[in-house]
Amino acid sequence: MQVRNFCIIAHIDHGKSTLADRLLEFTGTVTKREMKEQLLDDLALERQRGITIKARAVSMRYTYQGETYELNLIDTPGHVDFQYEVSRSLACCEGALLLVDAFQGVEAQTVANAYSAMEHDLAIIPVINKIDLTHARPDEVAAEMEQSLGSDPDAIVKVSAKAGLGIEDLVATIIEKIPPPSGSVDAPLQAMVFDSNYDDYRGAITYIRVMNGTVRKGQKIRFLRAGTEHEVVEMGQFQPHRTACDTLRAGQVGYLICNIKSLKDVHIGDTVSVPGKQAAEALTGYSRPKRMVYCGLFPSDGQDFSELRDALGKLSINDPSFEFEPETSDALGFGFRCGFLGLLHMEIVQQRLEQESDVDLVQTAPNVTYEIITKRGETLTIHKPQDVPDPGDIEEFRQPIVRCNIVVPTDYIGAVIKLCQERRGIQYGQEYLGPTRAMLIYDIPLAEVIYDLHDKIKSCTRGYGTLDYEMQGYEAADLVRMDILVNGNRVDALSVVCHRADADRRGRAVVKKLKSEIDRHMFEVAVQAAIGSRVIARETVSAMRKNVTAKCYGGDITRKRKLLQKQKEGKKRMKAVGSVEISQKAFMSVLSTG
Ligand code: GDP
Ligand code: MG
Repeated sequence: MQVRNFCIIAHIDHGKSTLADRLLEFTGTVTKREMKEQLLDDLALERQRGITIKARAVSMRYTYQGETYELNLIDTPGHVDFQYEVSRSLACCEGALLLVDAFQGVEAQTVANAYSAMEHDLAIIPVINKIDLTHARPDEVAAEMEQSLGSDPDAIVKVSAKAGLGIEDLVATIIEKIPPPSGSVDAPLQAMVFDSNYDDYRGAITYIRVMNGTVRKGQKIRFLRAGTEHEVVEMGQFQPHRTACDTLRAGQVGYLICNIKSLKDVHIGDTVSVPGKQAAEALTGYSRPKRMVYCGLFPSDGQDFSELRDALGKLSINDPSFEFEPETSDALGFGFRCGFLGLLHMEIVQQRLEQESDVDLVQTAPNVTYEIITKRGETLTIHKPQDVPDPGDIEEFRQPIVRCNIVVPTDYIGAVIKLCQERRGIQYGQEYLGPTRAMLIYDIPLAEVIYDLHDKIKSCTRGYGTLDYEMQGYEAADLVRMDILVNGNRVDALSVVCHRADADRRGRAVVKKLKSEIDRHMFEVAVQAAIGSRVIARETVSAMRKNVTAKCYGGDITRKRKLLQKQKEGKKRMKAVGSVEISQKAFMSVLSTG
């Protein structure tokens, strides 16, 4: 049987999932009756957020001009946090549908994804979706696609995924324009692991694309990077439900089940081959997931610690790119320092935790991973600000820089440039996509991006600006660790890393905020911000003069009781810093301001 392997790349909401549904329906892979909307997004959370988090693969059969084809649609995650997974998925395809909304036009993710597809030498089929919209502007969008992506306007396929227009044409184009996979059935087995997920009954399910050779049910396989060997207990394809088969040959896409108990043992980008001397070479491009964003997660009530640990453990079985380790904080007690691929990944993990367990969470402001070269010549990788050594020990302080594509209506170019400059961005390029839209390219510290850049771009462009970014590497910068001291005691959870030029402003804001949240004590309380031993801001909570609690309005006894109860609960949440009692609420109000 002839095979075509392809993916759909698109900016979020341009209709990728809807188009996938239409293709499944048109090829008879699912009947209309079976068709639930957006079948590919089968995680409840994905459905809720309307985004595709994990790659999936579906295998369709279609007869075209008397010949039956196997059409494998590999669903790639659309978000930059999962860039590595996107690139592994693209490496399994020969072609890509580049889908653009007929009204929205080319957006930041469209461009970023199209470039990735080009880097992988995929045949690209430009598609304009949503032509049913009354305000569709397909001709202008076609011009944008020509200008920014080099698409030939005559080659653009116009469809409505929702109304099912143009789908037959599109399938014919896929068969005609996307080359069949190369690779030899007789060569040693060489297959790429492009995704995995966890089934409670079957363990790890490994998604593969066979590059060369054949894999058979019952045979022994070896993961070349992990160096582990397993027996193939079951294999097959998703049509769209798991459908077992006995062999998968060069060019095909499918799944393997090998009694693997944890996803930690399946590495995306790994190569499947046979044990021993017959093994093929490992495929190139393998790397480990890099955690770029860290935050502390604490149970808001100390006794939920073990519950939180269990919940995190369960989650990490399903998501090996998420990591956690115990952390103790003076301010927040026992909790965990957690590492994520990016901000969205962090949000997803947090939501899952809250949905799947009853733990009430306190999350500290996220920070990026820093690199420090010490005076002694060591390189430290820092995941939390309190681990940054004292200023005198630092030779070089490095932070991650990302290259941002920002697509905006031309009216907002000035506002966005100003914003990027404030965030220490360096302009790399600017390009017009058409008469009314432009793309700005900036290199910006990741720390500034995760702080609030996306929200700020949205708000200064009335929601029209879109942002996408890609890791560039680490660069030296004038960074400092700023500490917060309460009566001379450093509060670990409140240390932050920031640019030296921002330290004064941020320090003043934090001490002011914290002062307003600390109750008066019998003695004066000094709240200070400091870099090393140098104090940069100070506020004082003056000592208590009279007994404010004596002020009582009498009368309503139940109200008084409630008040007492509340005070008791409040007590529980108090943390001591030296001899100063600070409520958890006070810490949170500061932490949440970043
Ligand atoms: P994805 O984020 O790219 O997967 O986008 P979805 O498939 O979830 O679609 C985003 C929104 O656009 C949904 O509300 C769809 O119903 C809508 N949509 C998708 N395709 C079309 C189309 O052809 N016409 C119209 N009018 N709406 C569409
Ligand atoms: Mg989707």
